Amino acid sequence: MVPIMDSQNLKEHLRLAAELGILGTSRDAVWRRRPGADPVEARQAAAVIPVSPAPPAIDASAGLAALREEIGPACSRCKLHGLGRSKVVFGVGNPNADLMFVGEAPGADEDEQGVPFVGRAGQLLTKIIEAIGLTRDAVYIANVIKCRPPQNRNPEPDEVATCEPYLFCQIDLIQPRVIVALGKFGAQTLLKTLDPISRLRGRVFEYRGAKLVPTFHPAYLLRSPASKREVWEDMKLVKRLLADPPCSSRSPSPFPRSTS
Ligand code: URA
Repeated sequence: MVPIMDSQNLKEHLRLAAELGILGTSRDAVWRRRPGADPVEARQAAAVIPVSPAPPAIDASAGLAALREEIGPACSRCKLHGLGRSKVVFGVGNPNADLMFVGEAPGADEDEQGVPFVGRAGQLLTKIIEAIGLTRDAVYIANVIKCRPPQNRNPEPDEVATCEPYLFCQIDLIQPRVIVALGKFGAQTLLKTLDPISRLRGRVFEYRGAKLVPTFHPAYLLRSPASKREVWEDMKLVKRLLADPPCSSRSPSPFPRSTS
């Protein structure tokens, strides 16, 4: 017997169909048989029933390249360009990554190489990524601000305000399923909160269609190795979230909201 869909299932089904670009339904009997078995019939069906094309998928790679160009190699939008910065550190990794890491700001090694997380903290981040069975190439890594603050001081509010729109654009282009915010600046900037990282970690937030997991910054772990245990718990959570079916980890809400 063919199972009957209840109204909740039907709603879910129609929502998924709409996401796939199917913008209407038809009562025509031809749709109740599977087109494709008979190519002539399938062609005829396609000819008489107008089907709206699916919206074009975002080309994340081209979008990121355009954004990098827009920022430029000599960005002077905030005061950091005149405070000893040598390279703008845009971001690195897979433009279609399911998992994205967001750090704070480039340090000396990153400033020299133009690549995020390549110094000591970066080497620890690489180990953390590998511990969950991934590689740096498979994920995407970026920072809240793209230029090194002098003497690695904390980013200042005007610097964050100037640079954060580029991070938000990166997130919207990549559309990761899970975002790991590394440390206070990553978490507070994304979640628009002043809560300390110790209160934020261990929880999952809905963020721009992704699950956001705040955790301790690798630089903090270098100073406090005992906290690696908590970070490992957070990474196991990330692994579980990545294993969830893609649709169940998407939220239509654009507002940050704790789910635990
Ligand atoms: N710390 C960060 O937050 N980002 C880097 O790229 C390197 C160190």
